[in-house]
Amino acid sequence: AKDSGRGHHQFSTPGVADDAMASLQLQRELHTAIAENQFVLHYQPVVHVADGALAGFEALVRWQHPTRGLLAPSEFIAFAETHGFISHVGRWVMREACRQLKAWHDAGLPRVPVAVNLSAFEFRQRDVASEIAAVLAETGLPPQLLEVELTETVLMQQSEQVLQTLQSIKALGVGIAIDDFGTGYSSLSYLKRYPLDKLKIDRSFVMDTPGDSDDVAIVTAIVELGRSLKLRTVAEGVEQPQQLALLGQLRCDLAQGYGIARPMDAAQTQAWLEQQR
Ligand code: C2E
Ligand code: CA
Ligand code: CA
Ligand code: CA
Repeated sequence: AKDSGRGHHQFSTPGVADDAMASLQLQRELHTAIAENQFVLHYQPVVHVADGALAGFEALVRWQHPTRGLLAPSEFIAFAETHGFISHVGRWVMREACRQLKAWHDAGLPRVPVAVNLSAFEFRQRDVASEIAAVLAETGLPPQLLEVELTETVLMQQSEQVLQTLQSIKALGVGIAIDDFGTGYSSLSYLKRYPLDKLKIDRSFVMDTPGDSDDVAIVTAIVELGRSLKLRTVAEGVEQPQQLALLGQLRCDLAQGYGIARPMDAAQTQAWLEQQR
């Protein structure tokens, strides 16, 4: 489905009809995907900058589409959000990530945590904290081994409900990370209001380091901010050894990116974990 907001001809009837058809088709397919469990999780390692040791995984959803192959989240998450499917997808992701990590721990693999992305829509529509508690009870994953990643969009809604939900999640023992930090056009005041654990420095700030001095300044400032507020910092999208070296100098805590490891399917992740032992 095309984004009709961006310069498309609103009045070209065939285009609109095509979009409507495509939207209906995609909605039908998502229904089936949820009913028939066509989603899969990939896992991307997060490592300690200081020594390269594994610190955890981020779970990233994909859709194993029956005809179109493996679809990235960019091809269906935004659509799922606006068409009422995101809660179904999100619940599956949370349960599957917890189930899989518990299975790996039970198999004697390193007991590292997993992070799950929650969209602002999910956060608004559901009692996320109770659902997380239920999934932890059901799967037996210790709460300390789960983390949720939220974008600043969630925190911008300065509501009592957001605060309560975050406090409930925190009270479970589950970690809270701010994803894509610095991209959300929000004020920084939420950093002191909410019980946060981590700042994930957006890839857009990391990718041109160390060459771009403005980006080096921004990453430095975020790492310092994190240190002052006792929040751990994670650099996203680390692709080059020079970027990792800079992060080491800045004493950024954690790093994630293709230069360290790509997201892997469950079988590859398990093999990778077995090598780490
Ligand atoms: P994100 O949470 O910022 O996740 C990081 C994205 O960056 C992932 O893309 C990952 O594969 C990619 N990435 C990691 N390292 C590098 C790197 O070194 N270079 C580059 N160019 N990219 C890197 P992916 O898996 O396509 O996910 C895209 C976005 O979709 C995620 O961004 C997240 O916002 C959303 N998403 C993924 N899984 C879920 C989910 O289960 N639920 C929700 N609500 N959103 C999800
Ligand atoms: Ca994320
Ligand atoms: Ca991110
Ligand atoms: Ca990002």
